[in-house]
Amino acid sequence: MNWISWLVAEIFGLFFRLAPLRIKPGLYRIGTPDENAPVLVTGNYRLTVARLWKRLRSRNLYLLVADSGGINVWCASAGGRLTHHQVLSVLKTSRIEERVNHRRLVLPQLSATGIDGRQLHQRSGWHICWGPVYARDIPAFLDRNFQAIPPMRRVEYPLGARIEMALCWAFSLSFLALFLLSFLWPQAIPATIAIIFAASILFHLSLPLFRNLFRPYRRPSKIWPVEFESGGLQTLILLAIWVAAFILNTAGSIPLAESWKWALLMSIVLLTLTIDLPGSTPILKSGTHEDRHWNLVLDGNRCQGTGICREVCPMQCFDWAPSGKSMIHARPDDCIRCGACVVQCPVDALFFLDPEGNRLDVDLIRYRKVDIWGRRNVHVK
Ligand code: SF4
Ligand code: SF4
Repeated sequence: MNWISWLVAEIFGLFFRLAPLRIKPGLYRIGTPDENAPVLVTGNYRLTVARLWKRLRSRNLYLLVADSGGINVWCASAGGRLTHHQVLSVLKTSRIEERVNHRRLVLPQLSATGIDGRQLHQRSGWHICWGPVYARDIPAFLDRNFQAIPPMRRVEYPLGARIEMALCWAFSLSFLALFLLSFLWPQAIPATIAIIFAASILFHLSLPLFRNLFRPYRRPSKIWPVEFESGGLQTLILLAIWVAAFILNTAGSIPLAESWKWALLMSIVLLTLTIDLPGSTPILKSGTHEDRHWNLVLDGNRCQGTGICREVCPMQCFDWAPSGKSMIHARPDDCIRCGACVVQCPVDALFFLDPEGNRLDVDLIRYRKVDIWGRRNVHVK
């Protein structure tokens, strides 16, 4: 890896983020690692590896790049593409155990939804250690003797990330619009692309203002196959578009057929951008996932106070109980049902209830991952 590869990965990562961007799996050296060097694991998403290299290039360590199908760590873990199988495979093929004199493996915190830490430990003999969420915190994490402070364990959606997400959605949708409109309505292409970029940036930048609108509903909707968590916003937008078309028609400023065509085109664009806006953020639950209505329960009688759930929770929903010997699920409204805590709890003290109040088997969460439709259909055991 060098600066040119980093720049290429950043540019491609921005515009083609929705497509897999692979780098060859295997062992990568950063600096000149010796037998005491830390061993970190990540997926083979090119942008992730480039960003890790940028943050860690002044360090000496080994980076084990597991085959996550060219998908980022969190999505690959949730979708069953990055599990203990892929990590075991890269551990074996890299022969890393011949290069270091310790057995401590630093896994990305966001892989905790997919990698079963206990299985990995039992099958490999390596001690598992959960690294921080962001690459920028890894140097401090290493300097603290592999300890992360709570802010390092929380996922954020700051301005820079929102702009990146807005641009990557706008670029992908513009590409599709360019292709389709070249056949159907070429004159509309420039204005459509301008509106796509403006709307995407507006939605993602203003997300904090209407974040509470997107919190998962407690009761499931039987009406829509894909739940319109952003239904209020979409209704307002569609109303505005069609009222504007009506006014323009009445005022006679645009021919009738043309204004309805524009209204239809803009409705499609804006519905596409907003249909699962929560799902394109890291801080809200996707409106298409079946587990959006599940409720997490912590059985205080079973909890042994290992603290692992607190380590892996990307929303930092857990606090220590006043006794300091067990955990409490202190912020359930922040929970995005990622399942990481359920997968990692060594005594199965954490589980989900479905909307009818039925307890879901923890193995369902551990070994069945989310498919593209948001259902737990991908078996990984
Ligand atoms: S991981 Fe399980 S046992 Fe450990 S603190 Fe959390 S709930 Fe308790
Ligand atoms: S509490 Fe919710 S957000 Fe946190 S790890 Fe568990 S399922 Fe994920």
